[in-house]
Amino acid sequence: MNLLSDRIQNLSESQTIAMSKKSREMQESGIDVISLSLGEPDFNTPDFIKDAAKKGIDENFTYYPPIAGYKDLREAISRKFKRDNNLDYSAEQIVVSTGAKQSIANVVLCTVNPGDEVLLPAPYWVSYFDLVKLAGGTPIVIPTQIDNDFKITAEELEQHITAKTKLLIFSSPCNPSGSLYGSNELASLSRVIAKNKGMLVISDEIYELINFEGKHASLAANQEVYDQVVTVNGLSKGFAMTGWRCGYIGAPLWLAKACDKMQGQITSATSGITQRAAIAALEAAPSEMNYMKTAFLKRRDLVLKHLNEIEGFVTNLPKGAFYIFPNISGLFGKKYGDQTISSGQDLCVFLLQEARVALVPGEAFGSPQCLRISYAASEEVLEEAMKRIKNAVQKLK
Ligand code: PMP
Ligand code: GLU
Repeated sequence: MNLLSDRIQNLSESQTIAMSKKSREMQESGIDVISLSLGEPDFNTPDFIKDAAKKGIDENFTYYPPIAGYKDLREAISRKFKRDNNLDYSAEQIVVSTGAKQSIANVVLCTVNPGDEVLLPAPYWVSYFDLVKLAGGTPIVIPTQIDNDFKITAEELEQHITAKTKLLIFSSPCNPSGSLYGSNELASLSRVIAKNKGMLVISDEIYELINFEGKHASLAANQEVYDQVVTVNGLSKGFAMTGWRCGYIGAPLWLAKACDKMQGQITSATSGITQRAAIAALEAAPSEMNYMKTAFLKRRDLVLKHLNEIEGFVTNLPKGAFYIFPNISGLFGKKYGDQTISSGQDLCVFLLQEARVALVPGEAFGSPQCLRISYAASEEVLEEAMKRIKNAVQKLK
């Protein structure tokens, strides 16, 4: 007898997590797998952040914190939004959660009714799609082209808006494409969004600090859409704090209150110790973290150089985050023994078996012609992985 709910049976497992789990299992059984599957900085959390957490323990920040986060953390976030993004969010408009993933889940569960349409420019981050389904919404995928750096134009957005559109979710810098929307592009999107007051937007800016081009642009800085936008951010990527679980939103007050209520029934607040660490992180100058960005940029160029030497891999120039999202459809139809490559999934399975390199298929992000390479690994590891991929692809006939 199957006692599981329809809800969980209809939910897919996160492909990013599934691939990293698989490679971890292979490594544990003694197989030499290189995993470039998980989006996780390979840096330790900086000492000044750890010190603040240790102090937090000694000062007994070990009780249930307020659901939306300690007031002084929310005030620090409010100052961060003003300092870095020119955004005015009061502490009451901020909700801190156990990671940006929960922040996004809260907003989706608080806004999407069954039958509502949610626009997802593809490639989208893997969890957006299933969170929308979990809420009973209908994901509407908007395809993009590598020639336009996998970004949607204002016209494409407008074409997909219907009377049922409730939400648009996108990330910039983008996981998995590494693309950035500049302020002019966001201004054009804003003009379309402002004409449709029945829709909201989740602007996922968790990779803000990993931007190789210059200043980060926030959608909500366009005043005409400020009331329609939820700005999501978090500490996992920019501060190398994936395991600490801290994400946050700046939102219209009514929505921040709803997320507080939702979170109060599901998880309560994130750990008080994490919150003390988060204050230290957010009060530091963002340039403190530039050393990671510098390392990522060098690695991006290293991986791109190798990929461009492999027949069948077409790349663009990712300008942020730590991913490359090559189009590999040039390899479709090629064979290895009796295996034929006809999707990103097929190539990922082949590369895992043959090259012992774990990547994530583009299907997870709504783009089956592509695959995602996370270059959050050392240069030596990346060199070895590229060598293995090159050799394996040469075996395809
Ligand atoms: N959004 C994007 C685009 C991500 O890549 C991630 C990484 N997991 C998240 C949200 C969630 O991050 P976290 O829950 O670790 O804050
Ligand atoms: N966001 C990361 C990724 O895309 C971590 C995995 C996850 O949270 O799904 O790989």
